Amino acid sequence: MIEMPIIDVQKCDGCGLCIGVCRCNALAIIDRIVTIIESMECDWCTDCEGVCRTGAISCPFEIIMQES
Ligand code: SF4
Ligand code: SF4
Repeated sequence: MIEMPIIDVQKCDGCGLCIGVCRCNALAIIDRIVTIIESMECDWCTDCEGVCRTGAISCPFEIIMQES
């Protein structure tokens, strides 16, 4: 299963800040609410969570770095 950011539609005000920082074009505003449109494109950077002022988007995944 691919882990993706979780969106709380009750908190999203459709400001679009998360879309502006998403380098993978994984997000879009549809009907004034942010929506994940390309789950395979997410690189789990968590930038969308960091920029959201209302706490509407959260990234519950854990990134594990492997030493080479
Ligand atoms: S930054 Fe937050 S409030 Fe703004 S569109 Fe994204 S999820 Fe919604
Ligand atoms: S975690 Fe990064 S790549 Fe994934 S939706 Fe958020 S900003 Fe885009």
